Amino acid sequence: MIDVVVIGGGPAGASAALFLAKAGLSVVVVDAGQGITKKAWIRNHLGLPDVTGPELVELGRRQATAFGARWIDGTVVDASREGDGFRLIVERDGDRETLKARQLLLATGLWTDLAERIGVHIVPAKEPRVKANVAVDPEGRTNVPGVWAAGTVAGASVHTIVTAGDGARVAINLLSALRGERYVDHDLLSDRPAGPTA
Ligand SMILES: Cc1cc2nc3c(=O)[nH]c(=O)nc-3n(C[C@H](O)[C@H](O)[C@H](O)COP(=O)(O)OP(=O)(O)OC[C@H]3O[C@@H](n4cnc5c(N)ncnc54)[C@H](O)[C@@H]3O)c2cc1C
Repeated sequence: MIDVVVIGGGPAGASAALFLAKAGLSVVVVDAGQGITKKAWIRNHLGLPDVTGPELVELGRRQATAFGARWIDGTVVDASREGDGFRLIVERDGDRETLKARQLLLATGLWTDLAERIGVHIVPAKEPRVKANVAVDPEGRTNVPGVWAAGTVAGASVHTIVTAGDGARVAINLLSALRGERYVDHDLLSDRPAGPTA
């Protein structure tokens, strides 16, 4: 059983996956590759003065997979409760794969259809050009136990630095809930190996 399946691999999903995988959880990202980020030319993301949306998405994928997340280019077409976890059907290239996960993190951008299917409450969105959001508590939990949400789908301001930060924030809350204490991911400069890093 996978610890967390992250659905959506835009800035929110990739950032969440990076934190979760770096913390040692088994993580799978399923991304249909239809996100709004792919249409953007981004000049307001701190640390990346000029980056295209497709470049940012690819960077996110590389960072998450470097820490051990598995990345599937596909669509979660169905999700249901099974025991104390979830059963997902993933479609890619005409094939279907079943995944079993303890927890889900929805980072599906403009899409709320899958959330609705698993009984997550949907609310009207406040951000421009976004129709609906999933309802989340301040930690990023939905009303369905074990289902979290981050980024555009959870009502974050539609900017890459905010949605990426929201993915990280919700992942940290998920890790803190699992560990029973606040989780912090800090690396020390003194531990950095000499020479170029990946
Ligand atoms: C034209 C345009 C220009 C923009 N310019 C800027 C800018 O200059 N600066 C800025 O900060 N922001 C900009 N943005 C906004 C920015 O791209 C978004 O606010 C933000 O990055 C969205 O991130 P996200 O991860 O929440 O969603 P997305 O990047 O939309 O990612 C969601 C992902 O979930 C996937 N998904 C959905 N359902 C499923 C499913 N069932 N199974 C598998 N995958 C699924 C989608 O295919 C998608 O890949 C722009 C947006 C647009 C449209």
